[in-house]
Amino acid sequence: MTTPEFTTALLHADRQFGVEHGGIHKPIHTSTQYGFDRVEDLIGVFQGTLKGAYSYSRQGTPTTAALESKLAAMDEGVGAITFATGMAAITAVFLTLLKAGDHVVSSQFVFGNTNSLLGTLGDLGVTSDKVDVTNVANVEAALRPETRLVFVETLANPATQIADLEAIGRLCRDKGVLFVVDNTILSPWLFKPKAVGASLVIHSLTKSIAGHGQALGGVVVDTGLFDWQGYPNIAESYRKGDSRQWGLTQIRKKGLRDMGATLSAQHAHAISVGAETLALRMDRSSATALELARLLESHPAVGRVFYAGLESHPQHRTAQRLFRSGSWLLSFELRDSSDCLPFLNRLSLPIKSTGLGDTRTLIIPVAPTIFWEAGAEVRASMGIADGLVRVAVGLEDPADLLGDFRQALGG
Ligand SMILES: *Cc1c(COP(=O)(O)O)cnc(C)c1O
Repeated sequence: MTTPEFTTALLHADRQFGVEHGGIHKPIHTSTQYGFDRVEDLIGVFQGTLKGAYSYSRQGTPTTAALESKLAAMDEGVGAITFATGMAAITAVFLTLLKAGDHVVSSQFVFGNTNSLLGTLGDLGVTSDKVDVTNVANVEAALRPETRLVFVETLANPATQIADLEAIGRLCRDKGVLFVVDNTILSPWLFKPKAVGASLVIHSLTKSIAGHGQALGGVVVDTGLFDWQGYPNIAESYRKGDSRQWGLTQIRKKGLRDMGATLSAQHAHAISVGAETLALRMDRSSATALELARLLESHPAVGRVFYAGLESHPQHRTAQRLFRSGSWLLSFELRDSSDCLPFLNRLSLPIKSTGLGDTRTLIIPVAPTIFWEAGAEVRASMGIADGLVRVAVGLEDPADLLGDFRQALGG
């Protein structure tokens, strides 16, 4: 058989693990510890000589390992580590790969909690500069000799800015800087960051990949493109064996074993099942999102619409070249911002809720909720007007959803 494609590979991945009793799905392994008949094997687990064995579930279980192998394959990486949440994955990358005195160049359009985390890092001696990453020149100008890492989101939430991905990838490769990409919104079905030279790919599994609003999770995938031998912050004890695994080894030992934000087996299983329909869900919700964006753009009551699939989007050409679609995320402003809350209350299908990547369409006014704590200055720097509304399009039948928006907008 030729190499299977994305969804085929995902659906049949568990069978490569020799699933117990011929079960078609990888079961949920709930043991917190693993035992051995021979004490030499127990010692081998601790010394890393017994491969594929488990000791204590804080460092992983057969259930998380099965999910990790699928996630690594989806991003064409050399390995993956799962975490309890997306924020745990991002925290683990920052805390295990950076030291006091290091510098980070970050997108100014990042998830609010990531922004807040960068503030915490500042208190620990890791400084950061936030720049407009839609133009590589801003990233280049912010680089310093002590810059270890550039952090961007591929498609930002909520205003959908798209990083200058190819050029930033080339810049990082030329300078030997780690290029870390949060690809949560797009998922590997719509875009694989390895194609633009990303070193590490992070996903909040909670969103696109799990897809059903039922499980929190996060992952770090190493694309295998970064040369860890030249990275100064890898501890001597992890500079052993295949150097492509050094980064992940350090993240697993320090980030999972020492910090402990481990993904539960139950959630790993739910995410695995959800991931099986990733491509189908992404295609459906992106197609509806494009129709909705067009409806909004042509409606007299609506001001600006931010959707990567619209010709009017500032980085539309980048999106067309690199992404399979404009994704399920869009945002817009009403011309009359005083109608924003009444309009939201006139909608009956979209659920007024925070969060992203559910099967149901979720809608939220951004400034008075998720970006309230950030303050007016940060909101302005991120392109978030007071009347901005974010829509995370779900799987409803498109005609129902569009009809509801039409009636709420008034004709
Ligand atoms: C939600 C989100 C996160 C954090 O993920 P959690 O699983 O909620 O911790 C990180 N990055 C982006 C882009 C997100 O949308």
